[in-house]
Amino acid sequence: MSILVAGGAGYIGSVVVEQLIEEGRDVVVLDNLSRGHRSAANPKATFVHGDCGDMDLLSQTIALHGIKSVMHFCALSLVGESVEAPASYYRNNISQSVALVEACLNAGIRNFIFSSTAAVYGEPESVPITEDSKTQPTNPYGRTKLFFEYFLRDCDAAYGLKSVCLRYFNAAGASKEYGEDHSPETHLIPLVLDAAVGKRESISIFGHDYDTPDGSCIRDYIHVLDLADAHLLALQRLEKGGASDYFNLGNGNGYSVREVIECARKITGLEIKSEETGRRPGDPARLVASADKARNVLGWKPRFPELEKIIQDAWDWRQKNPDGYAD
Ligand code: UDP
Repeated sequence: MSILVAGGAGYIGSVVVEQLIEEGRDVVVLDNLSRGHRSAANPKATFVHGDCGDMDLLSQTIALHGIKSVMHFCALSLVGESVEAPASYYRNNISQSVALVEACLNAGIRNFIFSSTAAVYGEPESVPITEDSKTQPTNPYGRTKLFFEYFLRDCDAAYGLKSVCLRYFNAAGASKEYGEDHSPETHLIPLVLDAAVGKRESISIFGHDYDTPDGSCIRDYIHVLDLADAHLLALQRLEKGGASDYFNLGNGNGYSVREVIECARKITGLEIKSEETGRRPGDPARLVASADKARNVLGWKPRFPELEKIIQDAWDWRQKNPDGYAD
């Protein structure tokens, strides 16, 4: 049974595609390469260049390859950019995504896996965050993801489309072949590694007076290989006729910005200069997941929960690919 991975040339999508192929699945990657990379599209998958909102292209692709399930990774995902340019976020993350779902419904596809985010929770009232925590996103990015989750629930009620929404905490690390290469890069771990290799002068620590033990923000970093495992389990659940649901994906361990930098110093053996700067607007002090539901319902268990392993794998990939995908 073929699977369409929309956004399969992006960071998380490329690692999921790699695992699907290792499992012997036939995969079609659809990507417009606006944020993804042609060389991140697995050579063992069929590659289709286009927008996930192009219904004609989707209908043709679904029919040609006998697609039975869809994983949807296409999204704009930068909080700051979403505040400055909400129209692009609503167009990409909602309008285009609705078109993708309509094409699936027209073709009789019943299984849909969606990349969601911890940003749906906004500033949490308490940590760890469970799926029952209030969803009050504080920026357009988080709102587009939450609205689309609601849309998927409505599609289940109306059309019987079964979906699993996976709410990622801080994706990090790499597989041997596929890693993180964003432009512009805004995420902490790749920026720390840029500072390690001298691509940037230093790493900024955004805020030093949060109510945390060392004053910097705490996040729950989750290995991209563990995220990929959860997608395969979610797919199996839907293929077996399981109900729609949504799950947090995180380790349940929080690390501060300073701890991440210190860990990267140990792993790289390089001096990494840091400087304290002001807070980044909209950053909650702590975001840590309870992923008990994914463990209990999906049978998911992170294989690489240690920060050292996450940063080591990101570093190994960076050393092998000093200019990222270089395209
Ligand atoms: N951060 C930082 N300096 C940077 C980039 C990020 O101090 O140059 C902090 C950011 O404020 C947050 C954490 O690192 O507390 C993780 O940020 P990232 O952008 O990687 O992910 P987010 O938590 O925003 O999804």
